[in-house]
Amino acid sequence: MTFNELGIAPNILSAVKKMGFEKPTPIQELTIPALLTEDTDMIALAQTGTGKTAAFGLPLLSKIDFSDPNTQGLVIAPTRELCNQITNDLKNFAIDIHNSKIVAVYGGASITAQIKDIKSKCHIIVATPGRLKDLIGRGVIKLHTVNFVVLDEADEMLNMGFREDIEEILSKTPETKNVWLFSATMPKEIRIIASKYMRQPLELGVGKVNTTNENITHACYITKAKDKYQTLRRIVDYFPDIFGIIFVRTKIETQEIAEKLIRDGYNADALHGDLSQPQRDTVMHRFRTNHLQILVATDVAARGIDVHDLTHIIHYSLPDDNEVYTHRSGRTARAGKTGQSLAIVHGREVGKLRGVEQECKLKFEKRIIPSGEEVCEKQLFHIIEEIHNIEVNETAIEPYMERINKELASLTKEEIVMRLASVEFNRFLHFYKNAPDLNIDASSSSSRSEGRGDSRSPGQGGMLEVFVSVGEKDGINRGNFLKFLRQMGLNDLTVGRFEVNRLASYFDVNAEDCNAVIEALHGEEWQGRKLRCNQGEGKRNPGGRPGGSGERRPWGGDSKPRFNDRNKSDRKGGPDKGGNKKRDRRR
Ligand code: AMP
Repeated sequence: MTFNELGIAPNILSAVKKMGFEKPTPIQELTIPALLTEDTDMIALAQTGTGKTAAFGLPLLSKIDFSDPNTQGLVIAPTRELCNQITNDLKNFAIDIHNSKIVAVYGGASITAQIKDIKSKCHIIVATPGRLKDLIGRGVIKLHTVNFVVLDEADEMLNMGFREDIEEILSKTPETKNVWLFSATMPKEIRIIASKYMRQPLELGVGKVNTTNENITHACYITKAKDKYQTLRRIVDYFPDIFGIIFVRTKIETQEIAEKLIRDGYNADALHGDLSQPQRDTVMHRFRTNHLQILVATDVAARGIDVHDLTHIIHYSLPDDNEVYTHRSGRTARAGKTGQSLAIVHGREVGKLRGVEQECKLKFEKRIIPSGEEVCEKQLFHIIEEIHNIEVNETAIEPYMERINKELASLTKEEIVMRLASVEFNRFLHFYKNAPDLNIDASSSSSRSEGRGDSRSPGQGGMLEVFVSVGEKDGINRGNFLKFLRQMGLNDLTVGRFEVNRLASYFDVNAEDCNAVIEALHGEEWQGRKLRCNQGEGKRNPGGRPGGSGERRPWGGDSKPRFNDRNKSDRKGGPDKGGNKKRDRRR
């Protein structure tokens, strides 16, 4: 089917062509003819990235009378980012419509400017629920002329606690309006909204409830809780072209993982709720413009993010709510592209995978965590590909060629190639020399320790004290705490001294395990209480803290970035080293 066959007005069709859309996506094929020909309410099941903005936007623009200055269309979306994206898309679709006015209103931005925008009349308002309610309360937005209400990412809005706001807003719109609801999943709350505020809605794509995009490969890596970060590094190193989001559970974890990745030389940054709007905008701008390769985010912070061409979604922690998995993974494989959704789980979380599989109707492929050797091989051929594809600025390099040739005259072509490849490759070889096997067999409770390069014997690097924020008051004792450690996947941990105070506990572990223990415990729950865990004051290792300056890095002692961090060079005002934006990001 082509766009011409869908019945869209010529002045909208021309814009669609300008945007380069060649043929409608499946959801567009379903909704556009139906909404154009019928005055109906509608529920459409559509994942993010399937073209749903055009699926409602094109019929909406076709049905609005642009000679009437009143607000006739209202689009409600969960986040500021999504509001802006929808507004931009609608403006692009309306580029050939004379005098069309589409305005976005959302929290976290000046309300005065938004009020001014709306007062000068607009045909379509795109809003987040909170700011919309505020503006209705102030009498700035009046809904009595609204004929069409679109609820976009309805399940996300309900997840975010906007149900009451949405109901209040819908109750203020005329009885005669049409409601078009889009959702990636179909929880029962959507049915409740539908039964209260919609009349015999057309249901499109609903037969495929909760199916995920077929272009996404779902895979899992099973490791110990304490090895999760190293597993993450293996995965990131194994996919040198990765451009993705790592989902973690808490704001603190977001910061911690991002900081570790940055320290280890990756081009990463954190996105979480404690960032101010300008900080958030800066991170998102870098990510969107491909200056940032890895974004570490919480689910809340990542809501509404629509970044094109993401190759990977990594679940560092699986979400508590299985539906959230669908939202996370739906951020890759957009607009017909393919993508991978990878879960890093420890033994205790394997059951959770089954829950996701059942509820989201998908199957995880169990993958072996790549060995150090495999990572090195992958990196080597990535380097070779880069050498092959690099754009050479002949004019700039020409003046140096004579000297370069002279300096390399004693080497054969083969030797030059080997040395060139080794510039990067040596760092990986060094880091992954004796790298342990990080896999555990999920079917057995004990971990596979053969072949590990690390030693479990106590005292080798001294012991360090770990502080944990639960004590006698919380019923903690050595026995139940050791059991808890095992549940957290810390099976073969050697625990020395264990001291319990009323409110806190302190225990000693081998210095080389200290960071991993903190990582595994921090933010987890002990009998409903969130644990704080950090290194205690009592240092039993005069050699210093692991993870400090002496920690292994593939890049040796220097802090040379793993990727070509254009943001850093931007900040320094340096030249754009990569030249080609696409390749730049993927380095
Ligand atoms: P959406 O689900 O509306 O966020 O769209 C996801 C991406 O697909 C956006 O970048 C759209 O511009 C793009 N897109 C939407 N419809 C089409 C189409 N028919 N052909 C190609 N790209 C599309």
